[in-house]
Amino acid sequence: MAQYLHLWDELLQVRLYTGTDDTLVWCHSSYGTFSTSSAYSLFFAANKCFPCARPIWKSKAPARCKFFMWLVAHGRCLTADILQRRGWPNSTTCQLCQSEDETCAHLFIQCRFTTKVWRKIRSWASTRIPLPGQNFANTEDWWLLARKQVPKVRRRDFDTVVVLAHWRIWKERNSRIFEGAKHSVQEVFQGIRDDIAMWRHAGLIAVPEE
Ligand SMILES: [Zn+2]
Repeated sequence: MAQYLHLWDELLQVRLYTGTDDTLVWCHSSYGTFSTSSAYSLFFAANKCFPCARPIWKSKAPARCKFFMWLVAHGRCLTADILQRRGWPNSTTCQLCQSEDETCAHLFIQCRFTTKVWRKIRSWASTRIPLPGQNFANTEDWWLLARKQVPKVRRRDFDTVVVLAHWRIWKERNSRIFEGAKHSVQEVFQGIRDDIAMWRHAGLIAVPEE
């Protein structure tokens, strides 16, 4: 799905002109002409490291949440800015704070509503992780830094909770847009706690509650 959406974005830039002959262009070298060295390096193009891959796929969150998180970490989640680019209906403004434009980075990291939810999670879990906020460019930026503050034995649980929190923030955003139902920071936090309790019961969270 991420590749499909990426292709969509790429094709938005393409303009076709009638009456112009097609030409062959090798787009993997700087001059547009084929070279064996550029073809050789193409073999390794898929080796590009994505730092959030391990935290996402090794987390214990359900598959649908992990897949969603994969889109978020790639900035491919269908927030207002992406809907706008595609000409789809959207509400532009972030529904959680009502004061900034909605982008993936804003909704999940820079929005003050999200930061408040994380403040509650942080104090409940008694950890010292940095809060998401304006200092961070996106989810990857914050997540990779924050998880380093968590002891290794709890890191997988932390990753699972990060996926869950993103999922819950997204559900709250959708609830406000599509159902007109607005929940407070405390209610969203409580929803995350309830899910954690349920996930722990199902064996998805390893460390018992203290
Ligand atoms: Zn916001």
